[in-house]
Amino acid sequence: MQGFGETIFAEMSALAVRTGAINLGQGFPDEEGPEAVLDAAVEAIRTGANQYPPGPGLPRLREAVSAQRLARYGLSYDPATEVFVTVGATEGIAASVLALAGPGDEVIVFEPYYDSYAAVIALAGAVRRPVTLRPVEGRFTFDPDELRAAVGPRTKAILVNSPHNPAGTVFTRAELEAIAGVCREHDLVAITDEVYEYLTFDDAEHIPLATLDGMRERTVAVSSAGKSFSVTGWKTGWVTAPAPYVRAVQTVKQFLTYAVSAPYQRAAAYALANEIPWVEELRKSLQAKRDRLITGLEAAGFSTYRPQGTYFVQADIRPLGFTDGMALARALPEKAGVVAIPTQVFYDDAAAGAHFVRFAFCKKDEVIDEAVERLARLR
Ligand code: GLN
Repeated sequence: MQGFGETIFAEMSALAVRTGAINLGQGFPDEEGPEAVLDAAVEAIRTGANQYPPGPGLPRLREAVSAQRLARYGLSYDPATEVFVTVGATEGIAASVLALAGPGDEVIVFEPYYDSYAAVIALAGAVRRPVTLRPVEGRFTFDPDELRAAVGPRTKAILVNSPHNPAGTVFTRAELEAIAGVCREHDLVAITDEVYEYLTFDDAEHIPLATLDGMRERTVAVSSAGKSFSVTGWKTGWVTAPAPYVRAVQTVKQFLTYAVSAPYQRAAAYALANEIPWVEELRKSLQAKRDRLITGLEAAGFSTYRPQGTYFVQADIRPLGFTDGMALARALPEKAGVVAIPTQVFYDDAAAGAHFVRFAFCKKDEVIDEAVERLARLR
């Protein structure tokens, strides 16, 4: 793990605390999730959910996840053998990669990629093969030829994140078909990171890769409660996949953490079963916050990409005369009292991302307003 150092989120959140800057870096909401969900966690502690739960997860949460995938996407998973619970999506992804890729194997990722992907591919002794998402008509996408060219004899898996952090892209059916075609042709497993599955905007629709022809049998899907219910600190996630994959991933997971915090599992099960209407309100509110932040960033002189999902806006810093997003992100608290994430850390090809910084809009309106007012000083 030499070379991985501290995550950019830890570095930038510490910088925000140290300088008192507004933190639009690490993506976490500054408003609470549904009260009944919070109560469910408290109630769970008060009513005895305090010893080791079953390794694969509480049956009630596995049943709730199974019901959610069926109701929302028409995907059927047996809660007993095809669903299991992980410490956030992060552990679900980690256990999946460790289970499915070994030393020298290759895993394709779309860059900019979420930072834990690179780290866990390294932990597996595997090699990442990035395919770069580039802006085309205001939206980040990939060239299917580059995807096909990234496949080699050692390729085992493709990690697919949609809605995509940090690019904000929600893959279209055509883009997913291109990915599925490569998986089918080369017999690859897809590991899908769907943590923003509910947080899509305008007419963008989240389509799970597993719903495409021939993909359910080769897809390990990962999601979590953090983003949907504004409880990012709960670290409660789940994996849905055919039973042999679940067994493989579970074999790894049991030695990482064995089981997942019992009270939060109960509360997440409650949330999935009862609070989807709340999530729809959250989605609408985030869409308005996205627009609010974009208007402010544009007024401050950035050019921006309007995300179709997630918590994040990519901003191009060049119109303001800057070229290095890392240098700007480190100086931004002093220059403007705001913290952002330099997108280049999510690329192998750092030059491709050098001029982007990522701002989070999962914040109170007044926090967004104050941040963009401060950023206007950059001119
Ligand atoms: N997913 C959050 C983000 O992208 C950060 C999570 C973390 O700190 N690892 O900002």
